[in-house]
Amino acid sequence: MRTSQPQTIYLKDYRQPPFLVERVDLRFELFEDGARVHSTLALRRNPDGGQGAPLELDGDSLVLEQLELDGESLAESAYQVTPSSLRIDQVPDEFSLYVVTWILPQDNTRLEGLYKSSGMFCTQCEAEGFRCITYFPDRPDVMARFSTRVEADKARYPVLLSNGNDVDRGELADGRHYVTWEDPFPKPCYLFALVAGDLTEKRDTFTTMSGRSIDLRMYVEHRNAEKCDYALDSLKRSMRWDEEVYGREYDLDIFMIVAVDDFNMGAMENKGLNIFNSSCVLTSADTATDAAFQRVEAIVAHEYFHNWSGNRVTCRDWFQLSLKEGFTVFRDSQFSADMGSPTAQRIDNVALLRTAQFAEDSGPMAHPVRPDSYMEISNFYTLTIYEKGAEVVRMLHTLMGADGFRAGSDLYFERHDGQAVTTDEFVKAMEDANGRDLTLFRRWYQQAGTPVVEVSDSFDETAGTYQLTFRQSIPATPGQSEKLPQHIPFAIGLIGENGQSLPLQLVGDSGDAPEERVLELTEQEQTFTFEGLNARPVPSLLREFSAPVKVKYPWTRDQLLFLMTYDSDGFNRWDAGQRLTVDIIQSLMDSPQETVVDPRLVTAFRHLLSDSRLDQALVTKMLQLPTEAYLIELADEADVQSIHKARTRVLNQLALQLRDELIACYRRNTDDGAYAPTPDAIARRSLKNTALSWLLHINDEEGRSLALRQFSKATNMTDQAGALRALVNSDFEEDRTSSLDAFYAQFSDDPQVVEQWFSIQAASPRAGTLDAVSALLEHKAFDWKNPNKIRSVIGAFAGQNLVNFHAADGSGYRFLAQHILALDSTNPQIAARLVSPLTRWRRYSASHREGMKAALEQIQAKPDLSKDVYEVVSKSLAG
Ligand SMILES: [Zn+2]
Repeated sequence: MRTSQPQTIYLKDYRQPPFLVERVDLRFELFEDGARVHSTLALRRNPDGGQGAPLELDGDSLVLEQLELDGESLAESAYQVTPSSLRIDQVPDEFSLYVVTWILPQDNTRLEGLYKSSGMFCTQCEAEGFRCITYFPDRPDVMARFSTRVEADKARYPVLLSNGNDVDRGELADGRHYVTWEDPFPKPCYLFALVAGDLTEKRDTFTTMSGRSIDLRMYVEHRNAEKCDYALDSLKRSMRWDEEVYGREYDLDIFMIVAVDDFNMGAMENKGLNIFNSSCVLTSADTATDAAFQRVEAIVAHEYFHNWSGNRVTCRDWFQLSLKEGFTVFRDSQFSADMGSPTAQRIDNVALLRTAQFAEDSGPMAHPVRPDSYMEISNFYTLTIYEKGAEVVRMLHTLMGADGFRAGSDLYFERHDGQAVTTDEFVKAMEDANGRDLTLFRRWYQQAGTPVVEVSDSFDETAGTYQLTFRQSIPATPGQSEKLPQHIPFAIGLIGENGQSLPLQLVGDSGDAPEERVLELTEQEQTFTFEGLNARPVPSLLREFSAPVKVKYPWTRDQLLFLMTYDSDGFNRWDAGQRLTVDIIQSLMDSPQETVVDPRLVTAFRHLLSDSRLDQALVTKMLQLPTEAYLIELADEADVQSIHKARTRVLNQLALQLRDELIACYRRNTDDGAYAPTPDAIARRSLKNTALSWLLHINDEEGRSLALRQFSKATNMTDQAGALRALVNSDFEEDRTSSLDAFYAQFSDDPQVVEQWFSIQAASPRAGTLDAVSALLEHKAFDWKNPNKIRSVIGAFAGQNLVNFHAADGSGYRFLAQHILALDSTNPQIAARLVSPLTRWRRYSASHREGMKAALEQIQAKPDLSKDVYEVVSKSLAG
């Protein structure tokens, strides 16, 4: 056990910073054995909170070489250095501090602060990485103007980048050179960035709405020069969209994107210099799948949008992380919806939320969108902060309407430009711009847990009235046993016997009767009565998933089939299909001998596969069966093996009975034309590859030849990887081996494709995968220092290969624990993220619980466990 417990930090303890930094002048000397950082800080006591306080700066793993106050060296007795801080007791109200530190970027495996990746220097400072570079008040409410001079060997590092505009460059002795960057906008230090390397540059330009020309530059390794076009195109579309939809114009003269192979996160929005994980920015038709193209578009947009929602207006403290992340995820999902299929986009967002965020909300790490406490802030880059946070902003958009929301966001940016603020100030701007009281709505930020809304209805034939009653409740979560009702925008429609949308005439409401209404639930129980109805309607509940809640209503299978066909809300048509399939899978779990699948499901899927007039983007989503992860989330005590068996039986029956329709669907959607990531083409490829995977699931011979042909003749990665995945998951032993070998031989020099090759194998539900996964860890392309490789093997196994990870003998749990322990010492952020599949052990059946708990205990027993892993493991085992 560790000797001292990490400290918990509380929101209620927030105090203003005692010192403000007006200006930071940095000079980096980069060498092969380390880096010297010269920092000159213009400091000033904060008039609102700095009286009498000593100066205390954060620092981590730094060697202090020099310290001067107003040009005078400080005596050693005048300051104290600890492993995490530098403290000077006596300082004037306004002064200059010169600090020189020595750091070791080449030994930095945590990938926080300044580190080396594939021969280049780069940084990651969010949340608390800047303190690994130099001593500084490392908190987001200290905003300063930065200038940065970078010096390095010119041959090895011809490109030297930092935030802002480049104002000076020149030659130095010994073949070295320098570039100086000046960022005119005050920023918190987590937005600082530096890159030095031998990179190729791709250029483009963008003309803003006021006519300014912006220089767009993308920097990648030379071998990736041809993989930049889609990211640059996405960037320009994001810039235009943010002007049109939010009225936000870009502010610097240059916008830069850099691709880095070793990166803990997806990407980082550093001011003017976004740094991306290579897997989230590089694309080409023959190496990136449709999903990768969509991810690149969304992440490029996300990071760009942060320039306003995050950089110009930033967070006061890390408890407010959702202020920038929830709002920006909402913005990027609006953007993606506008660029592609809005219904498909909504379905993808909700599927992720309901599977993974709902699981988080009911587990030991459950926390409000604005948390009250944390030990390690890196553990709070969660689905609750990002995805639920985005849903909360989306509800504001629904309640205010598009124009009211725009008025609110305009006011927010106008009021707080250049400030570090809280989620409360965001809601206040919405209130003030719309003249609404959102006191109750603020509970979405304060209460953890997923609200449950139980709906009951009754129809009065004589009066022609229909009543809907809503009861809301929120389960207890760690630290919050009592919950209050929340403000839930609940969109509904009513559907008549012939599938027609009915007018929603509320009793006592003389206004129009629209075909869709957003009911505002604010009390524990509320009833709404609709009049003018001849027959009992079928309710379409929570249209477009208008709030992140669980709906309980006693649908019959016939009602769900009816909604699948007639609901005018595309999201709810998909959702009805999911509910129906879940119901059928769950009933098979209860009767393991039953082999017959409800024939109505087969009929419904036959209709989906055969009717080419339907929206194909929606059809391809409707054909995806509920995932095992979602079925686990829905279970009270999940038995993974029986979930897997029941789901597989449904898939088998559907594939066997619809075999001819699958072949026809495959042929109809085959397209040998040039690759384009358009919504229509993406839907067609997805349909075709779903059909293929189902055919191979039943070992169909014709399916097999189609897959082999597709694998060898594919003109794009979506089709090649689709065929490979289908073959790898099939029983055609020779084909799986030969296609895996051929794929690796073809792409062994492309790290992103090799990562796909790893994850397709690690996620395969076939028996014996764990041995194969262990072998992959020995493969020459595997690298323990590269987070993408770890995610593509260990992450894919524990997160997607649920039947093998939850193997009855506990081998999957022991495997994960062993590797978390090893990674804890080198990269604690990544190690802590890998713990997640074990955390909800209490929600599993007895056959799983003991093994999961034992794995957590084994991890907890490691001496000097990192703060990151300690927090997740101890919270999982507590209570
Ligand atoms: Zn973000």
